[in-house]
Amino acid sequence: MKVVTRFAPSPTGHLHIGGGRTAIFCWLLARHFGGEFRLRIEDTDTERSKQEYTDSILASMKWLGLDWDGDLTYQSQRKDVYNAYVDKLLASGHAYYCECSVEEVEAMREVARAKGEKPRYNGKCRERGLEYAEGRVVRLKVPTEGRVVFNDMVKGHIAVDVSELDDMVLRRADGMPTYNMAVVVDDYEMGVTHVLRGDDHVSNTPKQILIYQALGLEVPTFGHVPMILGPDKQKLSKRHGARAVVEYQQDGLLPEALVNYLVRLGWSHGDQEIFGLEELVKLFDGNNLNSSAAAFDPDKLQWLNGYYLKNTPLAKAVELTKPFIEELGLSIEGKNLEAAISLYLERASNLKDLAEQLKPYLQNAYDVIMEEKAVKAIDEQGKEQIKNVLALIRDTEFSVENLEKVIHDYVETSGVKFKLVGTPLRSALIGLAGGPSIHLIMFALGKDETIKRLEKALTM
Ligand code: GLU
Repeated sequence: MKVVTRFAPSPTGHLHIGGGRTAIFCWLLARHFGGEFRLRIEDTDTERSKQEYTDSILASMKWLGLDWDGDLTYQSQRKDVYNAYVDKLLASGHAYYCECSVEEVEAMREVARAKGEKPRYNGKCRERGLEYAEGRVVRLKVPTEGRVVFNDMVKGHIAVDVSELDDMVLRRADGMPTYNMAVVVDDYEMGVTHVLRGDDHVSNTPKQILIYQALGLEVPTFGHVPMILGPDKQKLSKRHGARAVVEYQQDGLLPEALVNYLVRLGWSHGDQEIFGLEELVKLFDGNNLNSSAAAFDPDKLQWLNGYYLKNTPLAKAVELTKPFIEELGLSIEGKNLEAAISLYLERASNLKDLAEQLKPYLQNAYDVIMEEKAVKAIDEQGKEQIKNVLALIRDTEFSVENLEKVIHDYVETSGVKFKLVGTPLRSALIGLAGGPSIHLIMFALGKDETIKRLEKALTM
């Protein structure tokens, strides 16, 4: 059997990390089994659905590395298809027209509530054989006894007695099919074999199974992953810094880190923490999904991101950092970006942070803000050291080795403590008393800029 999964976002907002995680799971399951991963845009809520959100969701999917198979399915374009299936149910006697008003149905619910029963429609029109008329809804004729049973990939055995459910509406009075109807038709027509989604949908599943059964269709395998909780174990919200995938992208996170983080937040493979995408595809077979909700841990995400950043090849890191440098309004024209980035890649926790640290290298010498310690380090004694080193490097061909030797030899022969040389020089070059080795800073700045900055310090 070919495994077909799908992700079915509603374009009423950007792709949130919870949705992102569901998408990753569905993608992994399909890729693991060499199957298909389909994408469906559930845009039936015309008030809240927006094209810009669809675009944003697709962009986030691409950024995460989740490619999909086939064309996109838009629910808003499929009303007639859904209604054809509702008609089939009417023809086969599995559905019926109902003329009860909203108020009447509410009154029935009230009666049930008063009896301590589940509020439900009482089946008044079930056997009346009503024909089509404007304003009539179509309801499913739910079996009067029995249980809906399924084996959830995450939660295990689930059984719901039909008395818990009522004759649900399949087509509204305005002719629009309901959500559960549309989802069943789509999942069937898209050939979906595994429906993996957030457990906010678990109560829809028995209803959907009843629709499958009424249509005589094979029921897919379902799996419901628990919601992501905040660090305080409450429902994850904005307050916890829970945000859209695109916001993490804008913050300079690497997609590998976010994917790794989100997968681990709901799935495990022993106590392994680091997983590359390829490895995940190999390992993720739908087992070992956690049935209890996991708490979001921003520190761990940053830690993972630092790990992936450190292991990013330099040339790629340069490309990834460029947009963040641009955002700071800095030019990279004529700069040795690779050398500068290599000084901070190990320590940065994200690309934004990395770009920020490059500021002193990319700014005009006069724009570099000096920290107080740096200003203090450029005193008379400090200037003396700057002057001496400046004299030596004017004739030095700039390479990492040459510069290292010049500084090293100067410290040796002058007998001045290294710190008393290094601190004023670093301060003059990047406005910071502490940081990378002097020769590396000089190399990253280049000869002209190094001389310019040292000369400038002497005039302070
Ligand atoms: N559109 C639904 C949502 O965004 C998903 C429904 C489903 O996966 O079946 O929550």
